[in-house]
Amino acid sequence: MFIAANWKMNLDKKSIKCFVKHLQNYKFSKNLQLCIFPPTIYIDFLSELTKNIPISIGGQNCHHQSFGAFTGEVSASSLKEFGCDFVIIGHSERRIYNKETNENIKKCAQFGIKSNLKPIICVGENLEQRENGNALDFIEKQITDCLPEEFNELMIAYEPIWSIGTGKIPHQSEIKEMHKNIKEIVFSKSKKNVKVLYGGSVNEQNIQEILSVNNVDGVLVGGASLKIKDLLAICGSAVKHLKNL
Ligand code: PEP
Repeated sequence: MFIAANWKMNLDKKSIKCFVKHLQNYKFSKNLQLCIFPPTIYIDFLSELTKNIPISIGGQNCHHQSFGAFTGEVSASSLKEFGCDFVIIGHSERRIYNKETNENIKKCAQFGIKSNLKPIICVGENLEQRENGNALDFIEKQITDCLPEEFNELMIAYEPIWSIGTGKIPHQSEIKEMHKNIKEIVFSKSKKNVKVLYGGSVNEQNIQEILSVNNVDGVLVGGASLKIKDLLAICGSAVKHLKNL
């Protein structure tokens, strides 16, 4: 079970220190893999503080070139050098605010893989596409266009845009249909099985409901990952869910 905690552009040194203090006292289950995605500038800080804690660290993004004149960007190899194992690629916020295209996202994933990072490629429809019945087709195109030519380990995060930060989540049947579809599309293109995470307003109250859906292999958590109490409650519920399987 994979839990991705995407801090986005939040928290500072003081709050990260406090967060880690609580993590130090948490008993991690070996069935749970927690990966925190801090703001890039805090990756090294978090990595130093969590040396003896069984969590992973990831980047929220990497550039689609390996190096060069790209002011303000971060390369996959720098993320790796500073202790990252994972990288989120193509989050809807970057697609919208940074105008990232499927073509760029595919390149970002390929550079991530080249630097031994495991990419988590985000896909997700907007509300209009969901309401018009176009969600499945839209996601199929996103995956077809973004999937790297070659990979060993890669995850897809299904994150409906209308669910991110809104408190609304899709019906269980919609998540089930989408995750099954995503796995089938990736398999048909690569002959590889991938894990599919669900992301969008995951919290302590709805995590059990989400994890009980077939083909949900973990979650990507934004807002609810910013408070240690909320994040650990989500981890606890996930472990409980695994025990009840
Ligand atoms: C996200 O940013 O990927 C996300 C899922 O955010 P939230 O959990 O706040 O909806």
